[in-house]
Amino acid sequence: MRYTGLIERYKDRLPVNSNTNIISLGEGNTPLIKLNNIPKDIGKDVDMYIKYEGLNPTGSFKDRGMTMAVTKAVEEGSKAIICASTGNTSAAAAAYAARAGIKAFVIIPEGKIALGKLAQAMIHGAVILQIKGNFDDGMRMVKEVADHAPVSIVNSINLFRLQGQKTAAFEIVEELGDAPDYHCLPVGNAGNISAHWIGYSEYFKEGKSSKTPKMVGYQAAGAAPFVTGHMVDNPETVATAIRIGHPQSHHLALQIEKMSGGWFDSFSDEDILKAQKFLTEREGIFCEPASATSVAGALQDIQSGKIPEGSSVVCTLTGHGLKDPDTAIGQCDVKPILVNPDLNEVKQAILDNM
Ligand SMILES: *Cc1c(COP(=O)(O)O)cnc(C)c1O
Repeated sequence: MRYTGLIERYKDRLPVNSNTNIISLGEGNTPLIKLNNIPKDIGKDVDMYIKYEGLNPTGSFKDRGMTMAVTKAVEEGSKAIICASTGNTSAAAAAYAARAGIKAFVIIPEGKIALGKLAQAMIHGAVILQIKGNFDDGMRMVKEVADHAPVSIVNSINLFRLQGQKTAAFEIVEELGDAPDYHCLPVGNAGNISAHWIGYSEYFKEGKSSKTPKMVGYQAAGAAPFVTGHMVDNPETVATAIRIGHPQSHHLALQIEKMSGGWFDSFSDEDILKAQKFLTEREGIFCEPASATSVAGALQDIQSGKIPEGSSVVCTLTGHGLKDPDTAIGQCDVKPILVNPDLNEVKQAILDNM
């Protein structure tokens, strides 16, 4: 049967009915890739999987939530949606609004948005408000303005978003035949880690898995309220998707840490970029910096034994590497080799670099 998106596939588990007009771009059903080389590189016997959410239609997991949020906004008669975004939510909102024929307003932080994400919001025709502040300032404005203008909020405080995003956990359980022992994610607003927990818990209660995973959230050191224990007013990190100091799902995520037996940790920008490069060079998988935080964390905790050998570990790669080409190029020291269209010159360049 033709795959037509996660709402159609999981409609019995989502807040829709047979009359709902589904707004979908075929999101979900993303690959779960087993790592072949990296576990050997670090000399550890673990089953490590990547849930490659960068392969969603707009290149991030935000599409899972946006298909639900926009479907419900349209069902409720809304003609416009609004979100604050570090980039990927605005890309998804712009695309799904275009698909639905409604207007998208997106509030992004001035200057700190990856190029690919800005391109997406622009080309899909969103109205872009670039705020002189960070994501948290934008989020505050969205909450206030939604009371004064006819727009539906599609940030992850919109609970339909989490309902859509929980389906990633369903896919993982179905594919592995059980829940993994550990599920590692990068954490910004903590909506996604919460959504995964909702999904895993739902399947566990119905006996579709024998356990729930320990949920492990990793943050960037410059934006790590879950690690430091207090909100951060001026978050800074190269991982712009998680440059958030006041997480919207703060309480939920702290409960999940306890209930699941998981933990939070944080990593320097240098460690995050190192993990991004390691994954691209050793496994052929390209993700944006924020996503690599899950791998940086999992590798550290596997190496230290906190995640013991014999475990199954899923790392979510939240967004595609092409979202942020500047940062990718910036961390490569190899430059293209300039040659003339001459057989000898090309041959020599090959032999020199074998
Ligand atoms: C949104 C986003 C995150 C953070 O997800 P939260 O639900 O805010 O914790 C991480 N990585 C990428 C690429 C994102 O777009």
